[in-house]
Amino acid sequence: MDYKVLYRKYRPQDFSTVVDQKEIIEILKNSVKNQKISHAYIFSGPRGTGKTTTARIFAKYINCLNPTDSGPCNECDICNLNQDNVDIIEIDAASNTSVDDVREIINNVKIAPAYSKYKVYIIDEVHMLSPSAFNALLLTLEEPPSNIVFIFATTNIENVPITILSRCQRFDFKKITDSSMFEHLKNIAKKEKIKIDEDAIKEIVYLSDGALRDALSILDQLAFDNKKITYDTVANHLGIISNKKIASLLDNIFNNKINDVLTILDEFKNINIDYRYLLKKLLDNLEIFAIKIKNNELNYDYSKVVNLSMDIANLINQININLNPYSLITIILLNYCDNEQPLENTNDKKKIEQNTQTDDSIEEKSTFDENIKNIRTNNCLVNVQKKYLTLIQNFWSKFIGSISENKKIMMLLIDSDVVAASDNYLIITNELESTVNLINLNLETIENLFYKEYNKEYKMISLTKNEWLKVKEEYIKNIKNKKKYQMIEEKKVLKKENNIEQIATSIFDESKIVIEGE
Ligand SMILES: [Zn+2]
Repeated sequence: MDYKVLYRKYRPQDFSTVVDQKEIIEILKNSVKNQKISHAYIFSGPRGTGKTTTARIFAKYINCLNPTDSGPCNECDICNLNQDNVDIIEIDAASNTSVDDVREIINNVKIAPAYSKYKVYIIDEVHMLSPSAFNALLLTLEEPPSNIVFIFATTNIENVPITILSRCQRFDFKKITDSSMFEHLKNIAKKEKIKIDEDAIKEIVYLSDGALRDALSILDQLAFDNKKITYDTVANHLGIISNKKIASLLDNIFNNKINDVLTILDEFKNINIDYRYLLKKLLDNLEIFAIKIKNNELNYDYSKVVNLSMDIANLINQININLNPYSLITIILLNYCDNEQPLENTNDKKKIEQNTQTDDSIEEKSTFDENIKNIRTNNCLVNVQKKYLTLIQNFWSKFIGSISENKKIMMLLIDSDVVAASDNYLIITNELESTVNLINLNLETIENLFYKEYNKEYKMISLTKNEWLKVKEEYIKNIKNKKKYQMIEEKKVLKKENNIEQIATSIFDESKIVIEGE
């Protein structure tokens, strides 16, 4: 398959093409000029901000035979080794967390570099290492051989032990600014001959919230059929919230229409609108409301706008993703509705539902049942085995190659990973919540396509990487405690609609897990 996703195709090869992060790059360049290279660096910051890319370029740079002002020359014998340079070792701590993995590194640390001046270890998502792995690593960091450089990258600096941090030179990567991201996307679209409106680019910038990789994945997904990408394309494809819908949510709040507020929030929840995105949109629209009120174009209480904005800003800062963010959002929003609304009769309610459904972009999306997600994840874990995973993983790129005619599905899967498999279930992860949702809405198609190629029926489910990490953690804990997962029938649960929430929350509950030997 020769298709290369955009973020890989446009991954910077030297410092000059890294988007933003100028100060960090200046310091890194100077450290090489002044020959003051540290033994350990830690790059922290949100995902998609260039940490791993910068680490790779820096690793090449310190070994390059003819370093230039913009980074490695990419021409000398060492640079030309590229992926084959055995002295640059990349480890993804998200999948290699055990002390054995680290021990292997440490044993090899003592072996001198094969070709280069420095042996560089790039450890991605270093916060995922286990405590014992950290301890093992610490021993090396305390007395590192002179020609070893560690570059750690992490999205969760808080979870890196202070003992490690204190031995590293730290760089905090910032979110890519909207204007840089806009220019970057515009350039790539031009180079790729992707026809796209500026409004559409702006919405992608907005959606990806400072993560370049996300922005390029979205662009990839939208560019599959060579049609011009407009704001509506972005809205329809990603199930994003239109400003019209947000404005109507706020109107309902200011008019104390509690049921309408709840109906719209339910819709957002059902199509998995990311709560951070929702909050951001609400704030933006409140700004518009504020201006309109001051211009006498709207007749709402200004202090209500101020207070609601402050509450939303606080929510953005404080919301704990382990809680149910939508509950909190609902509670805060309802706080701004006075409870004066007379009881509605069912006809009215129906009318409202019809209205909201014919409103705009959103009705094109069907909803994906969260419970199926939980059930299938559970069912996959019942008989999850490395051997099944290896088989599927080995087959996966062939499978994706085989569906190149169904480009829409291909674009959803090309950047996704299979992370767990049993004999008839598998779990697919993707960084983007919107992609995960689209995969889940297309499961049947994907399963059929897979069956055609693999000749074995598989039920699938997609999770975001973060969701998967949590499931995995829970799984490891349960296995250690010798608790066993049990199959849950999908149909049975689906029928008991009233009971669904209860069942969903009980999936990982003690009562559903049988202790071995009992
Ligand atoms: Zn070079």
